[in-house]
This record gives sequence, structure tokens and C-alpha cells, in this order.
Amino acid sequence: MIGRIHSIESFSKVDGPGVRFVVFMQGCNLRCSFCHNPDTWAVNAGEEFTVDELVNRILSVKNYLKNGNGGVTFSGGEPMLQAKFLTLVCKKLKENNIHIALDTAGCFDIENEDVNELLKYVDLVLFDIKQIKNKYHKMLTGVPNDKILKMAEYISNTLNIKMRIRVVYMPGITDVENSLYVLKKFIKTLKNVEKVDILPYHEMGIYKWEKLGMQYKLKDVKVPTNEQVHQVEEFFEEQNNK
Ligand code: SF4
Repeated sequence: MIGRIHSIESFSKVDGPGVRFVVFMQGCNLRCSFCHNPDTWAVNAGEEFTVDELVNRILSVKNYLKNGNGGVTFSGGEPMLQAKFLTLVCKKLKENNIHIALDTAGCFDIENEDVNELLKYVDLVLFDIKQIKNKYHKMLTGVPNDKILKMAEYISNTLNIKMRIRVVYMPGITDVENSLYVLKKFIKTLKNVEKVDILPYHEMGIYKWEKLGMQYKLKDVKVPTNEQVHQVEEFFEEQNNK
């Protein structure tokens, strides 16, 4: 079986615990207007890998990941779009005791069999919530968030998989009205959240939109100051101290 990979980062300290080998999978089912990787969207692009090619690449740095108390993180794009391929990869990684994290926006039915099969091998889900309010979520990503919120509850409260919530903080957009309060309230209903990661909005992906000939609609949005980011982090601190 073939998987399509956008890129690989062999050393990351921000995509899960410890030292991470990050595999950015090709293809996404959302269209976030702040996306800094629009080049991951097309499902038929990227580099083709067989299961063994990817597994061997990861296993070649196995000791280094273990010594750094880390593992592998599958990100994207949306890695769950290639759930069948990743299940085969993860089975082999688990035989080698590798810690597996999955960074997802979770926009799938909870009954999706391929997704359920993949989640059996995942130790930690990095779950991205783009906007808690449906109306703004649709404006920001092109899709409603009801499936996403159900998937967050399912992963945390039914499957009991550890979870970190990732929130892109864009002043005036992701905190519009009382969005962060509502989000915090929702996160409290999730039993397995160990941390909330605040990811400050940045403009580093804008050039990719221009390169792809697409219009970037959020040019007027300001990058948050360190102080603003700190305030939002403090707001979610309670969750992080659990
Ligand atoms: S889910 Fe991630 S990769 Fe997909 S459009 Fe949104 S930000 Fe981009």
C-alpha cells in the first residue's frame, strides 16, 4: 500500500512530548483560511512511500527518539485521511515500542471504521479545535464543527486516549465574542485532556498562498503580542496544571 507524504521533519520539540519525528501527510478535508500549509491540501500530490519505506525511515532513528523520550507524530494536512496506510505503519511501529502521536482536526464520523482502526495504535491525540462556535468555524474552515466536537468527545471520553487540545490564537478571530470561554467549558467535559497548547497565529505561510495563486483573506489580522499570548495561556492554565 502507498501513502502520500508532504514532508518529514526528523527533529521537533513542539509536536508532542520529547523529541519527535514528524510526518506531514498529504491531503486535507478542511480549508482553513489561516492555514500555513495550503500545499498539503491536494490529496493526489506529495511523495509516495510504501509502508516499509516509511517504517524503516522511522526505525533508523529509533534510539534517538527513545533517548529523547519522544516518538513519532503524524500530522498534515489531515493524517486520518490516510488512516488505512497509517494503521499498517503504526502496527509495525508498535511492535518496536515507538510512542505514536496523531495531530488531527478530527472532521470524521465517529463510526468511520478506518479511523477507529488507526486510533487503536495511537498513544496521544493532538486535537486541533479551530473555533468552538459553529458559525465562525464554518467561516474559518469551510465546514461546520459538530462532527469535530463529537470526535473530540469520542476520543477522550469513549476511547480514553490521552489528548492535547491545540488552539490557534488569532486576535479577533478565534477569540471572537466569548469563544474562548465556551471552548474552555467544552474542554472541561473531556476527561483525558492533559494540556491545552496555544499556538500563536503567524504569517509565515502567506507566501505559499501567493505561490499557489490563491487569495489570502486574513492579511489584516494582526499577529498577537507575547503579552496577549501569555494571557490566553494563563486562561487555560488550570487545564495544564491538572
Ligand atoms: S486542518 Fe490544518 S492543514 Fe488542513 S486546512 Fe486547516 S490548518 Fe491547513
